[in-house]
Amino acid sequence: MRKVLEDAAQRAISYLETLDSRPVAPLPNAVAKLSVLDQPLPEKPNKPETALKVLDEVCSPATMGISGRRFFGFVIGGSLPVTLAANWLAGAWDQNTGYYNITPATAYLEQIALGWLLDLLHLPRESGGGFVTGATVANFSALAAARHTVLKNAGWNVEADGLVGAPPITVIAGAEAHPTLTKSLGLLGLGRNRAIKIPVDSQGRMRAGALPPLSGPTIVCTQAGNVNTGAFDPISEICDLAHRSNAWVHVDGAFGLWARAVPSMAEVTRGMDKADSWATDFHKWLNVPYDSGIALVRDADALRAAMAITAEYLPTDSPFRGPSDFVPELSRRARGVEVWAALHSLGRTGVSEMIARNCRQARRFAEGLQAAGYEVLNQVVLNQVLVSFGDLAMTNRVIAAIQKDGTCWCGGTVWQGRTAMRISVCSWATTDDDVELSLKAMLRIAKECKQ
Ligand SMILES: *Cc1c(COP(=O)(O)O)cnc(C)c1O
Repeated sequence: MRKVLEDAAQRAISYLETLDSRPVAPLPNAVAKLSVLDQPLPEKPNKPETALKVLDEVCSPATMGISGRRFFGFVIGGSLPVTLAANWLAGAWDQNTGYYNITPATAYLEQIALGWLLDLLHLPRESGGGFVTGATVANFSALAAARHTVLKNAGWNVEADGLVGAPPITVIAGAEAHPTLTKSLGLLGLGRNRAIKIPVDSQGRMRAGALPPLSGPTIVCTQAGNVNTGAFDPISEICDLAHRSNAWVHVDGAFGLWARAVPSMAEVTRGMDKADSWATDFHKWLNVPYDSGIALVRDADALRAAMAITAEYLPTDSPFRGPSDFVPELSRRARGVEVWAALHSLGRTGVSEMIARNCRQARRFAEGLQAAGYEVLNQVVLNQVLVSFGDLAMTNRVIAAIQKDGTCWCGGTVWQGRTAMRISVCSWATTDDDVELSLKAMLRIAKECKQ
């Protein structure tokens, strides 16, 4: 056992140590070599070392350098070394973290991590939380709690009786709501296309003034951190309007919620604590390994009512928080362990510094690109930069060339009809030198593409 585990650790360490000296995207020949995996199911056992050898020699080169320093695609963080190490240890523990009575250590860690998170993000301390796979399931879980409460207030028990025959729920979302929020609404029987879509401004922010008059069971879905621009909906204002009619306000803050850890960003994140529920990711900006996020609900009982199960063989009588009572899963890995390790090692100032540094680095990208004459399409209020290199064909050509060059990696998008390259800075590992190196590569490549 020791041999195979030490072999894995050595290989992982070597992988991470050499990641920044290879192209960020895997080379085409490395991807082509994956075909050596096309083999029939082994009839007989193989040595465990052989599996590791294949994984490392065939698959490591074909990975995207997401945990490296210059990956700026989507909104994807790396993994702080302490969180990867915690993940390894928690993997060895193999705790099915459903109930405190069975797995006290990991259930306890999640409880502590939840309290720390609420403190860090200045959210109501009484809130309940479910450690889930990411913001998609966090949105789903928080909106299940919302569905529970708005229907309970209308005299309907949705968990027992379902949606057939239930009072209708009005759902309101910004036109720029993330597609996973739309999917969550579909999973909850609230319809992917049923929500009233509120028009947005040039940054993708919902116009609070465009909210219709609200009455009856209503859920308003807001966003902290637009996936393209990083912009925030006017959440404080929306909470004030929606709460007058007893509507539920949810915040999809997959990455934007982390700005609440930064004192100097208090103005943009003001009033978010007035909402009823929040979803955020850990695997994005907290830089823990996949997959990890959390659903936070002010009324912990609403989340529990939507998620808890009872069965004779399950130990649900514990006075201590049962992790599975707050999530869709029963059996689950101890996601909170890495979250605890990240918060323990960074502390309040470390998280704040990391978020603020990435935002500053994003502004540096914007400034450097603008100085060279390229148009930045968004106000850089967070960690996202949208840049155009000219028309659609030119911008796409530059994006492809940047990806091929391998110094860094950025993806593309279409923002309000215009094709753009997206730069998302959210890795603990990105240094200011990495930003300069990447910026230099972008400018060189863009110039070459124009010739
Ligand atoms: C990334 C993201 C999601 C989805 O999160 P996953 O972790 O991929 O499930 C939802 N909303 C927003 C705003 C996001 O940026």
